[in-house]
Amino acid sequence: MPLQSFIDVSQESDFPIQNLPYGIFKPHQGSPRAGVAISNLILDLSLLEELGHFRDVAAAVSGGRNASRIFSGDSLNAFMALGRPAWKKTREILQNLLSAESSTLRDDAELRARLFHKQGEVTMQLPARIGDYTDFYSSYYHAHNVGSMLRGPENALMPNWKWLPVAYHGRASSVVVSGTEVKRPRGQTKPPDSSSPVYGPSKSLDFELETAFFIGPGNSLGQPVSIDHAEDHIFGIVLMNDWSARDIQTWEYQPLGPFLAKNFCTSISPWVVTLEALEPFRKAPPAQDPPPLSYLNRAADFTFDIQLEARLQTAKMTQPQTITRTNFRNLYWSIAQQLAHHTVNGCNLQTGDLLASGTISGPTEDSRGCMLELTWRGANPLQLSSGEIRKWLEDGDALSITGYCQGDGYRIGFGEVNGRIISA
Ligand code: CA
Repeated sequence: MPLQSFIDVSQESDFPIQNLPYGIFKPHQGSPRAGVAISNLILDLSLLEELGHFRDVAAAVSGGRNASRIFSGDSLNAFMALGRPAWKKTREILQNLLSAESSTLRDDAELRARLFHKQGEVTMQLPARIGDYTDFYSSYYHAHNVGSMLRGPENALMPNWKWLPVAYHGRASSVVVSGTEVKRPRGQTKPPDSSSPVYGPSKSLDFELETAFFIGPGNSLGQPVSIDHAEDHIFGIVLMNDWSARDIQTWEYQPLGPFLAKNFCTSISPWVVTLEALEPFRKAPPAQDPPPLSYLNRAADFTFDIQLEARLQTAKMTQPQTITRTNFRNLYWSIAQQLAHHTVNGCNLQTGDLLASGTISGPTEDSRGCMLELTWRGANPLQLSSGEIRKWLEDGDALSITGYCQGDGYRIGFGEVNGRIISA
């Protein structure tokens, strides 16, 4: 029998007592603060902190650093910076308070009324102050599909792809929380039949199904993080939609890579699922051939079994339609390898930095993680239940990504990241 809370949580809920993801919420009255999700509720960590429940967290931090006000700000950065011993201690405190056996909250209706908010009655904000954002390109199937379109299947992968986790530096300022409307970008494109470019709204707006992880403690400039210690720097994982304007991208990307095709909006889910919560779903990573260089090689490396799905709902549809199902295990490069590679030159990651997976496509046609692949650059449009077709996303379309790990009688869910396209 899995651990039970005194709060009733259905087996399909994303947020049982085994999960306890962290987020920043703004109640109707009051300032933004940290909370954890359980069932359809949020437990106010700022108030719990005020009541003295996290005094032992400071003791868990080496050197006994003052950790008395970690949950009252409008970001999780202070908590993320504390590191794994403090994260584990906090989880232990929260699971004790929320367990069916503990009377502290269970038997105090007045206290519960102050501590719990309904998720539907608050506004979720970005969980962290994101200083830097990097997007990898770590799904073999995605890289192979896109490369096949551009260069043919024989030359699909660039020579470096199986030797290092390819990435580009994205833009942090345009990372937004789920629910934020996505304004169709304008920009410069070159139609194939035209000799010169034109300016106007993107005509091939796409989504990219991704996950991303947040950096906990950073590393100093010039001090690489070895792959054996990479995990110590990883706080937790969110869902991400890397909205992409393919026509802008096609014209601008050579020779320096994505720029305005990507930085107009990047959406993430509000709840950060910790590595502690994902622990039961840890799996061996896929085999890598050729074997990576030693700084990317770790016998105990890992991935997670996270089922992922994207749904599309056009303005005419009454309910969303699933357009792809994939899994986090489809990533060739692990998050530890991504982090080790990112710092191998001495680059300093900082608390709150966001490192994204890249589009997570699987081996089959129905597990492709973006419209570019699902429609093969528009050649095979999606047929929707409404009778409509889609080569790319249109104004009024809403795209949502969900994900969860299936446990025995419970789920570790990620909630969702959604966004609706509005006109340019
Ligand atoms: Ca991407």
